Amino acid sequence: MSGFNFDVITLFPKAFELINNLGVITRALDKNLIDVNLHDLREYGEGSYRQVDDKPYGGGAGMVLKPEPIYKAYESIRKLPKSKTLLMTPQGKVLKQKDLARWSTLDQIIIICGQYEGFDERIRCLADEEISIGDYVLSGGEIPAISIINGLTRLLPGTLGDPDSLVDESHNSSLLEYPQYTRPLTFKDMKVPDILVSGNHEEIKSWRRKKSFERTLERRSDLISNENYKKSPQSKRIIKENNQFMKFRIGNGYDIHRLVEDRDLIIGGVKLHHPENLGLDGHSDADVLSHSIMDALLGALSLGDIGKYFPPSDEKWKNADSLFLLSKVIDLIRQDGWEINNIDSVLVAERPKIMPHIKLMKKNISEILNIDENLIGIKATTNEKLGPEGREEGISCHSVVLLEKK
Ligand code: SAH
Repeated sequence: MSGFNFDVITLFPKAFELINNLGVITRALDKNLIDVNLHDLREYGEGSYRQVDDKPYGGGAGMVLKPEPIYKAYESIRKLPKSKTLLMTPQGKVLKQKDLARWSTLDQIIIICGQYEGFDERIRCLADEEISIGDYVLSGGEIPAISIINGLTRLLPGTLGDPDSLVDESHNSSLLEYPQYTRPLTFKDMKVPDILVSGNHEEIKSWRRKKSFERTLERRSDLISNENYKKSPQSKRIIKENNQFMKFRIGNGYDIHRLVEDRDLIIGGVKLHHPENLGLDGHSDADVLSHSIMDALLGALSLGDIGKYFPPSDEKWKNADSLFLLSKVIDLIRQDGWEINNIDSVLVAERPKIMPHIKLMKKNISEILNIDENLIGIKATTNEKLGPEGREEGISCHSVVLLEKK
């Protein structure tokens, strides 16, 4: 019985001697799980010199493979029913593990290797797929072809000693593999994690899942942000399980309070003077800036809003200093290991002028939150006399915060 067929068109068949010394791949050859048929391009060359390359039309450096020898070589190959032709080129789609898996169910892969400065454009139509093995340029398609033969062969049944070793490895689930250890238990003062010698298989499985996710997040977060990955139900579960590893969370807060007589006007801990002697009404001191920042902080961690923590029904918070409440909220956020990356707020007030007080507001808030003033943005705008703020029925504030897991 013949196995999976690789037919390779190459000007350097000797380069493929490497696969006679590649462990599992060599064993697959010996067991006839694969056949590697090399088609020496030189034999299809033209004239007594067996010419295969020529100067490019239009000028330019180097030589280009001629189309006729490649066509002749290609036509000499017997095509099996389930066959695909791959053209090795740095201009192709970058090879992924899922491509190898996809091709592993075929009977035959025909690989065309370029050389020198490449090949005549008119051979591209022979290929079902153009493949690059990475964003760099090699001198020929032989090493890319060997990479494909190698990667695909180890997926074929009967090739690897333990087929389970294919299940968990990097890129299969779009995640990188967890850290692996073998004996000795301690090497140069570096110890194998206790969990791996605990014998608790469930815990080991969950540790590995976590490590795999953490590692991918650290090294290749692009794999996780990939849309296809996000869509699969299995990934949804992994993402949910690993929310704790999310590095950033964003939060949005909004608050509005009524302008009334006989109340202080306190914003960002600063007492302002309204031309009509109006102040903000509320259970606490009604500091809209501090309130919207608190809501944004709580929102970032899906912890609800300030009403949940400081209910207006509770006498304790009557006329409370909102900066004090803010200090309670930031304690809650830090308890969970989060830190503020930055805050951006916008106050909407027709009067009084907010601008002259922004510096002091930033100072108050940065002191309470114990962060640099530069991390706090406070802007003010009027509402062009429109809506409740424009009619001076109230003052509102919007805030956005970005939290980072430390
Ligand atoms: N001038 C060409 C590159 C020629 S490199 C260009 O800019 O596109 C010579 C040959 O090596 C290519 O025809 C291709 O077969 C092979 N090759 C080089 N780098 C490769 C890569 N990253 N992936 C796949 N094949 C590659």
